[in-house]
Amino acid sequence: MSSILIVGGSHAGVAAASALRAEGCSGAIKIIAQEPTLPYHRPQLSKEALREEVFDPQPLRVENFYEKNGLVLLRGATASQLHLKDRCVVDANGQCHDYETLILACGASPRKLPEAVDPERRALYLRNFDDLRALKVRLASARSMAVVGGGLIGLEVAAVALVKGVSTTLLEAGERIMQRSVSRSISNYLADRHSANGLDLRLGTTLASIGRQAGGEGDVVVLEGGETLSVDLTVVAIGIAPNDGLARQAGLPVADGILASEQGCTTDPAVFAIGDCAAWLDPVSRRHIRYEAVNPGQEQAKMVAAAIAGRPVPALGVPRYWTHQGAMNLQMAGDVHGVTKEFVLKAPESGAFSVLGFQDDRLVAVQTVNAPRQFMPLYQLIGTDRDHLSAELDWEFPPPHHH
Ligand SMILES: Cc1cc2nc3c(=O)[nH]c(=O)nc-3n(C[C@H](O)[C@H](O)[C@H](O)COP(=O)(O)OP(=O)(O)OC[C@H]3O[C@@H](n4cnc5c(N)ncnc54)[C@H](O)[C@@H]3O)c2cc1C
Repeated sequence: MSSILIVGGSHAGVAAASALRAEGCSGAIKIIAQEPTLPYHRPQLSKEALREEVFDPQPLRVENFYEKNGLVLLRGATASQLHLKDRCVVDANGQCHDYETLILACGASPRKLPEAVDPERRALYLRNFDDLRALKVRLASARSMAVVGGGLIGLEVAAVALVKGVSTTLLEAGERIMQRSVSRSISNYLADRHSANGLDLRLGTTLASIGRQAGGEGDVVVLEGGETLSVDLTVVAIGIAPNDGLARQAGLPVADGILASEQGCTTDPAVFAIGDCAAWLDPVSRRHIRYEAVNPGQEQAKMVAAAIAGRPVPALGVPRYWTHQGAMNLQMAGDVHGVTKEFVLKAPESGAFSVLGFQDDRLVAVQTVNAPRQFMPLYQLIGTDRDHLSAELDWEFPPPHHH
């Protein structure tokens, strides 16, 4: 049986190792994992991990899972070169790891502010457990904070800070928050709720620079237009960039992610790419799409494991996402940008509802607020038309509310 090497020991990489065993691959499987921590649940870092006083990361798998399944997990090891011809990966200590099949699951890193904007490197970022530790120390004694970026992570961090009584200002360059992942109606709903909780939300606001307060420990944040804010710390969450350097140096095509087929194979048939680092060909739009969430990476892992095992490969499902922001628990799926009309469906729980997004008569997006039980049944109906949906939900659609 062939030997399989996985670079990256997080959601996608660990899911791939486990799926390979589930598919009956009995050969050697080795994971090269840069972080020293036992692979852990990353989404917690901006949620409970930040909220709780003392926090240990929750492992993806118990420690003996790896040994029990014959998986070699090299923690604190970095893959620094990939030689496609020799089928080997060289780690930072110069050791060579041969493979017959390679799975790249290197994830992504926070996009950093340009040096001109943050010359003293004042900004804090949040991607891994080390980042969390640094942020928790600063947040513990903070009374004020600036957050740059109104995406999922920025809003989650801001929501925790507000609960802790930290006066928080959030700068979002765009005209609404979470623009990439939710519809305008949900953006507005979230903005209202965060503002009601005390968030000083500045839309259409760009950061000009960050520097150290004269004679103080905190930051001076200068906005485009000249206004300045004095804060104890600044968290920057302006998106991520895929860790595709290893692949690029090896000569594999990359373009905002390692380019891969609709089943995750790169231009080298022995090399696959999954998770946040990979841009898979989407069979419908014929574009390469890179997802930045746990669920699609895990599905890709299962698909690649099936392909390697020579089994039928399932199709990639519609990616699902979730976020917890204060008392709001959102789940979402589908293409919110293709939506031409929306319906609101109330859930039995108080204050809970779902927004169904249609393109013409077809359900293309579902967004659920505090209605976890409503989400999956609706998710499974994505792609179906209105009549089918009415019958399934036993529900008469109110007149459409056009955008
Ligand atoms: C704070 C935060 C909150 C989030 N919340 C949510 C959420 O609520 N819902 C959701 O769906 N998603 C959420 N996400 C996104 C989700 O965590 C990612 O989509 C997911 O972790 C991607 O998994 P991955 O395995 O592809 O990559 P990653 O988790 O980035 O892991 C890649 C791993 O590879 C390692 N690595 C990289 N290069 C090398 C190398 N050369 N050699 C060895 N190892 C290497 C990295 O150190 C890292 O450990 C959140 C992310 C963050 C940071």
